[in-house]
Amino acid sequence: MLDSIRQLLEIQDRDQRLAKLEAQLRAVPVEKKRAETELLAGEQGLATVRDQIRTAEKIVKSVELDIETVRIRMRDFQSKSAMIKSNDEYKAALHQIETCRLQVVGLEDKQLVAMGDLEKAKYTLEQENHKLEATRQRVKSAVEDLETRARNCRLEVEKMRAARKPFLEALPPEICSRYERMRSGRGAQDPNYRALVPVRSGTCGGCNMNVTAQIRVNAVKGQLPACANCGRLLFVEE
Ligand SMILES: [Zn+2]
Repeated sequence: MLDSIRQLLEIQDRDQRLAKLEAQLRAVPVEKKRAETELLAGEQGLATVRDQIRTAEKIVKSVELDIETVRIRMRDFQSKSAMIKSNDEYKAALHQIETCRLQVVGLEDKQLVAMGDLEKAKYTLEQENHKLEATRQRVKSAVEDLETRARNCRLEVEKMRAARKPFLEALPPEICSRYERMRSGRGAQDPNYRALVPVRSGTCGGCNMNVTAQIRVNAVKGQLPACANCGRLLFVEE
C-alpha cells in the first residue's frame, strides 16, 4: 500500500472521530431543549392544579354563603311564625321552615363534596410540588452535564480540526482535494461515512456495487480511482 493511502486512512480515522464529536456537539442543544420542555410541562401541570384549588375554594365559599342565606331566611320564618295567629298561615310558615331546612341539608352535602375536592386538590398540589422539585434538580444537573460535555467536545473538536490540516497538507493536493470533496458532501453529516473504501471481492466497500476490472487495476496501482456508482475513492487492502 502506498504511503499516501496509509496516511489518508489515518486521516479518515481521525475525521470519523472528529465527525462523531461534531455530531455530539450538534445534539447538545436538542437534548437541552428536551430537558427544559420536561420541566415546563411539570410547571404547567402545577399551574393547572393551582387553578383547580382556586376553583374548589370558590365553590366552598359560595356554598357557605348559600347556607348562611338560607339559614337567615329560616330564622326569619321561625321568628315570624311565633307571631302568626291564623292556622293556615302558621302551616304555610312551617312548610317554609321545612323547605329551608331541607335546602340546608342539601347544601351541607354539597359543601362536604366541595371540601373533599379541595382537600384532594391540595394533596395533589403537594405531590406535584415534590415531583416538580425532583424534575427541577434532575434537569438542572442534566443541563450542567450537557454544558460540560459541550465545552469538552468543543475543545476537542477545535484541537482535532487544527491537527488535521498539516496531515492533509502532507498529501498530494489532488488526492487531498478529492477526499475533502467527498467528505464535505455526505461525510459532513454522517459520522460513519467513509470516503476512502477498499475494493473487496470486486465490489466497492462503500456502496457494494461491482467495480470494473479497469477500476480494480487502477486501485491496485494505488491511483485511488472513484467508484462509478458512489464516487468514493477506492484502494486495495494488502
Ligand atoms: Zn461505491
